[in-house]
Amino acid sequence: MDERNGLTPQDLTHLRRCVDLAREALADGDEPFGSVLVDPDGHVLQEDRNRTAGGDQTRHPELELARWAAAHVAPDVRPRCTVYTSGEHCPMCAAGHAWVGLGRIVYAGSTEQLTRWRADWGLPPGPVAPLPINAVAPGVPVAGPAAGLADELRELHRQSAQRETAQRETAQREGAS
Ligand SMILES: [Zn+2]
Repeated sequence: MDERNGLTPQDLTHLRRCVDLAREALADGDEPFGSVLVDPDGHVLQEDRNRTAGGDQTRHPELELARWAAAHVAPDVRPRCTVYTSGEHCPMCAAGHAWVGLGRIVYAGSTEQLTRWRADWGLPPGPVAPLPINAVAPGVPVAGPAAGLADELRELHRQSAQRETAQRETAQREGAS
């Protein structure tokens, strides 16, 4: 048990899978985020990872899992399900999670960490305010970050930031020529 953040060994196992999914997303040209939906008995129901490389910036795994739960999990079971995720839900995904009535969220890295890292790497802020989950969905129990995964996550996001910067520079060059 992580004393500060209330993370159990089981939580850390699921978060480990989320980080592996994030790594897979990055390798495939997407942004490094991965998430897992777990039922009240601790069984994995569904998992997904970021799929924004195709141009649809709403293809976040947390929103996909919320919509999957709406279609496949009974309303009375959803509050007892947990969503694990490599990066804390953005406001869009936190809203989707809350509207669908899902339960606890456990994240490996916080929005606050990611915002700080991106600023350190000179990236412009995104189009959506970097609010914590509970600012958007106050009733959702939240746990994280997982200190032991921070270095690994930071490295995945550093690689993603590098690619983002290179793509932006190429676009600027092409726009200027
Ligand atoms: Zn999101």
